[in-house]
Amino acid sequence: ESKGKIGIIGSGLIGKSWAMIFASAGYEVVIYDIISSQVKDALTSIKDQLADFSKSGMLRGSLTQEEQFSLITGCNSLEETVKDAFYVQECVPEKCELKAQVFKDIEPFVRDDTILASSTSCTQPADFTRDLKRRSQCIIAHPTNPPYYALLVEVIPSEWTKPEVVERTKNLLEEIGQVPVCIKKMVPGFVSNRLQYAIICECWRLVTDGVISAEDIDKVMWAGLGTRYAFMGPLEVMHLNSEGFENGVERYGSSIERVSSTFGPIPSFSGEGLKEVVNQMNERVPLDQLEERRKWRDRRLAALAKLKQEL
Ligand code: NAD
Repeated sequence: ESKGKIGIIGSGLIGKSWAMIFASAGYEVVIYDIISSQVKDALTSIKDQLADFSKSGMLRGSLTQEEQFSLITGCNSLEETVKDAFYVQECVPEKCELKAQVFKDIEPFVRDDTILASSTSCTQPADFTRDLKRRSQCIIAHPTNPPYYALLVEVIPSEWTKPEVVERTKNLLEEIGQVPVCIKKMVPGFVSNRLQYAIICECWRLVTDGVISAEDIDKVMWAGLGTRYAFMGPLEVMHLNSEGFENGVERYGSSIERVSSTFGPIPSFSGEGLKEVVNQMNERVPLDQLEERRKWRDRRLAALAKLKQEL
């Protein structure tokens, strides 16, 4: 018996990931795309990926790969895709007007209790839901790439999202094994990208100021900070590295303030600095080896995800 139906709009990278994640938890998934051939290709790719996950012991959930695949169907009708779905996840390209149109198109076909979630990375929720009749059912559920291994989902309601929709979205995401966090107040970039951009800016300054090479700064992240960030965040790191957070502030607070005051203005990602970083990066991973390196990355992420499951 079906646990309930999920409608996925857009069968690109993110749409396919959501489909596999929901199916792994036993939900019936219907996936739609504006390009019908894309739906067919997406199903083939999902089947292959499920087989790979199964082979490497990385398949999520307790169902077999065949059982999971049988829960996913493609559809060329938007109406059929969302009809009777209790949750819809929009995964179309990052254009505000396009997203607004998609939500407007599905609105007439969904139930009063259907959650309408968007995967958007940077559009503010109010921007594309303002004029919708069902705007109180809309919410952002922003995944982290690759969602199958990186479990964080930023859940962002707008001022008119019903509180009940926020709760149900969080509960559903937790149930399927993702890690939802709720963004309580609108800020550009949400939270994950704000942190990422702060790090990228400081990496840029240090490399273009000649403090460290691009290769070595990446080592600082993966061999140093990133090692513990895979298991705990910076606030808990500070809490544990001292006798609690307050003691951490007593010990390190003034250093943090002194060093942070030297960060300087937001860099401009252009000119000689850009050439320098691009050259160093292209030398490390030549552009014709990106695909190979991505595969290597995905194997590593899979191994880490497996380890985290076992701990
Ligand atoms: P993608 O380009 O891989 O896929 C988008 C799909 O949407 C394509 O298959 C396209 O044919 C389809 N599409 C276009 N217009 C449509 C319409 N009107 N109706 C139905 N389908 C339509 O993009 P993606 O990387 O999967 O990103 C989707 C969303 O997820 C974006 O908002 C993106 O910002 C967000 N997101 C992406 C990442 C990432 O790293 N790729 C991470 C988090 C969130």
